[in-house]
Amino acid sequence: MTKTALITGITGQDGSYLADLLVAKEYNLIGMARRSTHYHHPNISHLIGKITLEHGDLMDSDTLNNLVAKYQPDEVYNLAAQSVPADSWHQPIVTAEITGVGTIRMLEAVRRHKPDARFYQATSREIYGGVDQEEVDESTPFLANNPYGIAKLYSHLITRNYRESYDMFACGGILFNHESPRRGLHFVTRKVTMAVACIYCDIKHPPVNENGQPLVQEGKVKLGNLDAVRDWGYAKEFVEAMWLMLQQDTPQDYVIGTNTAYTVRDLCQVAFDTVGLNWEDHVVSDAAFMRPTEIAASRGNYAKAKAELGWEPEISFQALIDLMVKADIERVKNNQ
Ligand code: NDP
Repeated sequence: MTKTALITGITGQDGSYLADLLVAKEYNLIGMARRSTHYHHPNISHLIGKITLEHGDLMDSDTLNNLVAKYQPDEVYNLAAQSVPADSWHQPIVTAEITGVGTIRMLEAVRRHKPDARFYQATSREIYGGVDQEEVDESTPFLANNPYGIAKLYSHLITRNYRESYDMFACGGILFNHESPRRGLHFVTRKVTMAVACIYCDIKHPPVNENGQPLVQEGKVKLGNLDAVRDWGYAKEFVEAMWLMLQQDTPQDYVIGTNTAYTVRDLCQVAFDTVGLNWEDHVVSDAAFMRPTEIAASRGNYAKAKAELGWEPEISFQALIDLMVKADIERVKNNQ
């Protein structure tokens, strides 16, 4: 029997890859997108005609209730969020409203209108925040240390609470950073791979950065803390773990990562090496892009996901960055 799924945040990186996966599995797919002035959704333009797009907002309970009541989804993937940790210091209340309280609005819509739907909540490694351990897993205590991480921690705990209180099939995916050519330009990986593409192709009008400045000025890109460490995986692989979580006999929370760690400096080196450039000639560290608090260096131990979901990452960090640089070079060449 055809399953129906609802994805919030379908226009984002993960939503679009998950949509590709569910369309390939022949789901009847409903995607929720925010109403905006410009109906431009490049990540899902190839799916128009294959999915149903509905307008809705995590700030607005009515639309969420209506959508769940109307479509009676078998699976709900709540991926929408103010998803940029660095921005959460500038917009802490919006972050709390969307990334935190938005989750309970969605959970309530499911509990009232389709309580047997299986529910996936995108939580985040940022719920561990300042935990000073090289490796973390599902048993590690939470120490969120930025407004985004704290909002995600609320989401994580309320999802668990609805599972325990109402016997709902609700899972929290504690995902470490995952990247792709569809990653937003304000995230450091895409910033670097797009900067490489602009410098390599000598683009006169590069895209703007989050401060409204050209991403590349006089052949240089400004970044924050080059010593920041992350566990970076591939979004296309990570969305498979989301789907697998909802196919199990019992709902649980899982850490999804690659158990590797690289610095932003490593990222720059790998990305600029791809086109034969020396990263040190093109990258500057600027205090304006530093986070007030940094998360501690840690890798995501995905042993539970491997044992129970049969999931493990395949692509290497170097191959991922190579793939992203090549995609950005194609992009800037086509826009010239
Ligand atoms: P994106 O930023 O690419 O996508 C976020 C999506 O949420 C977009 O579709 C955006 O819509 C939508 N959105 C934002 N605010 C609202 C709102 N008020 N109502 C409805 N929709 C809204 O994020 P990713 O795809 O990378 O991440 C997916 C989820 O996973 C997010 O919750 C993120 O916080 C979480 N996560 C991501 C990680 C990563 O490394 N990618 C790591 C851990 C967790 P619009 O297009 O209109 O902006």
